[in-house]
Amino acid sequence: MEVQILNKSELEMQFLVEGIKPSYASALRRVMMSEIPTMATEYVDFKKNDSALNDEIIANRLGLMPLTFERDAYNITQECDNCKGKGCSRCQVKLVLKKKGPGMVYSGDLKSDSKDVKPIFDDIPIVELFNDQELQFEATAQLGFGKVHTKWQGAVVGYQENPTVIKKEVKPCPVHKLVPFRNGYLVKKGDCEMCMDCVEEASKKGGVEKIGGFIFNVESVCGLHAQDVVLSAADILDKKFSEFSKDLKKLK
Ligand SMILES: [Zn+2]
Repeated sequence: MEVQILNKSELEMQFLVEGIKPSYASALRRVMMSEIPTMATEYVDFKKNDSALNDEIIANRLGLMPLTFERDAYNITQECDNCKGKGCSRCQVKLVLKKKGPGMVYSGDLKSDSKDVKPIFDDIPIVELFNDQELQFEATAQLGFGKVHTKWQGAVVGYQENPTVIKKEVKPCPVHKLVPFRNGYLVKKGDCEMCMDCVEEASKKGGVEKIGGFIFNVESVCGLHAQDVVLSAADILDKKFSEFSKDLKKLK
C-alpha cells in the first residue's frame, strides 16, 4: 500500500492510496464516517429555560455542535473501567451555561470543565434571550459513534477510483489545479468538472494513463482534525482485523 497526501488543511484532507482493493477503500470510508469515537453532548440537565425554544430543541442543537477533544484521552463511557459505565471524569465532560437576556446565546458561552473539550466554533447561535429571560443548564458530553447517532459522525468522505494521470508533455488547461505526480499530473475530479479539456487533448496524443488507486476526500465534521480522523479510522480498522484473525484462529 502506498499513500500520498495531496492536500491538507485542519478540517479537510485529500490523499491517494494505491495498492488496495475496492472493499478496503469502502471499509476505510465507512469507518471514518461512522465508526470512529467522537465527542458530543449526550445529556442536558436544564435548571432554567425561559427562552422561546423548549428544552428538547435546545438539547438537540447542543448535540449537533461539534466538540474538540484529544484523541485517545477519553474512555468510551459504556466500556469505562474507572466507573463501569456510570460516568466519570475519564469518560465524560461537563459543559455549563448560565446566561441572562437580552442577547444571543452562542456556543462560546459554554464553560467546559476540561481544557481540550469545547465547541469547535465559538459563534454557533443556540437561542436568543429577550429581556429578563434566563437560560441555565449543565450538559454532559461523551464519546460515541456515528452509526449510533449522526451527532457523532466523524467526517464526510468520498473517493474517486482509478484516477487519471496526464503526461508532462501535455499542457494542462489553466482552470485545472493539477497535482504533479510521477512523470505527469494527477487529475482530481471536481477541480475542473465542466471542462476536462486537458484530459481530452492528452488522450488524443495518447498521453493519458489510468492508475490503480483511490483519491480520498475527507472533510471532518467532528472536533478532530481531518488527519486525526484518518488516523483514528486506521486504528479502528487495525483493531477489527486483529480481532477477526483472533476469532479465526479459535476456529481451527
Ligand atoms: Zn468513566
